[in-house]
Amino acid sequence: MKNSFQALSMAAEQISELDTQLLKRKLRVTESPCDTKAIVDQRKLNAFCSNDYLGLANHPELIQALTEGANLYGVGSGASHLISGHNIAHDLLEKKLALFQSTHIPNASALFFSTGYLANLTAITGLIKLAKSGEASIYSAKLNHASIIDGVRLASTQSTASVTLFDHQQLETLEAVLRKDTKPLKLIITDGVFSMDGDITPVKALTEIAERYDALLLIDDAHGFGVLGQLGHGILEQFAITSERIIYIGTLGKAAGVSGAFVCAQAPFIDWLIQKGRPYIYSTATPPAIAHALLKSLAIIEGEEGKARRRRLHQLITHWQNEMSFSRWEKVSSCTPIQPVILGSNANALVAAKLLDEMGYWIPAIRPPTVPAGSARLRITISANHSIEDLQALIKVLQKIERQVQIGELP
Ligand SMILES: *Cc1c(COP(=O)(O)O)cnc(C)c1O
Repeated sequence: MKNSFQALSMAAEQISELDTQLLKRKLRVTESPCDTKAIVDQRKLNAFCSNDYLGLANHPELIQALTEGANLYGVGSGASHLISGHNIAHDLLEKKLALFQSTHIPNASALFFSTGYLANLTAITGLIKLAKSGEASIYSAKLNHASIIDGVRLASTQSTASVTLFDHQQLETLEAVLRKDTKPLKLIITDGVFSMDGDITPVKALTEIAERYDALLLIDDAHGFGVLGQLGHGILEQFAITSERIIYIGTLGKAAGVSGAFVCAQAPFIDWLIQKGRPYIYSTATPPAIAHALLKSLAIIEGEEGKARRRRLHQLITHWQNEMSFSRWEKVSSCTPIQPVILGSNANALVAAKLLDEMGYWIPAIRPPTVPAGSARLRITISANHSIEDLQALIKVLQKIERQVQIGELP
């Protein structure tokens, strides 16, 4: 069929190009709540793909709390936070989130966002505006999440901040550059847990570097919040870090099971983001009912049930690390719920994901640009709602598929 105008044919061509490179992404529609079993196209699949690490997304008490929140505050906030959308549920949630980090960040205050993407965009662009144009430098870990990459790009064009990427496993290089940096504002940015590899950032060393070179340290703990630490407060609790320089970001749609994110830092930084954080200012506040449900989620996370769920999750992770082995594929050593298996080529990852699907498993193939070229992988995520038997069965299936998938590229 001939396309009717140029932009449309450009779209069709570009997409078909992606398709040839095996890089075309497709949406799948689920017909069930997020849990360890998912219904897709009327088939029940064993799901190892969500970030619902504690198994809270379909928790009856959270469903009830969301319903209660809707009864109390309706379904929409009606406006941005600074106009009239800031509800008592948001306020209570922010106070509780700040309390979670208060032993790690002195004078902590928190700001709630509708998504982690927005939280990163706002925090990075907003903090850089503390300096005059050209007087800030950003140091961002190479494997940081896309929302950080985009935040850094925006900050560097808006405020002409210089940008240096660093390898989080080679901090001497980072230090060597920082040592020569005389800019008044320096911002180091890292994922807490790297989302496609599952390894934890060297948070203690980075905090020391931030202190030594007078920098701020922004940690995006999207995959650590709820999972790490005795009380599930995240990476700072786990490693007993305290610093005035930390800008902590947690997301609330992963282990917390609901939706949203927050920035937690010393009060003046949070105040500044309320003044100057454009994505925060010009966006409608999340429904207060969500904040109300999140209060319940935080109570579960830090209470006995949360502890039990984390204990179970960590048992499952240890079991996986001990029992899983491949002859050609690469299992990554990870102590978090993110357990990637690296296959290399896009074709192999796609074939493996397809075979898994045929055998009733939902595990996504992750390809470039999400991961570096040549490191396409299966990204397996474990939830506290999985059982040891679930893992055993998956191990058998993966080993069988490894034998079936050809080495090398497709013709
Ligand atoms: C998921 C994720 C985000 C984005 O959070 P959303 O709430 O999903 O927008 C940000 N950073 C990291 C590291 C993530 O994994």
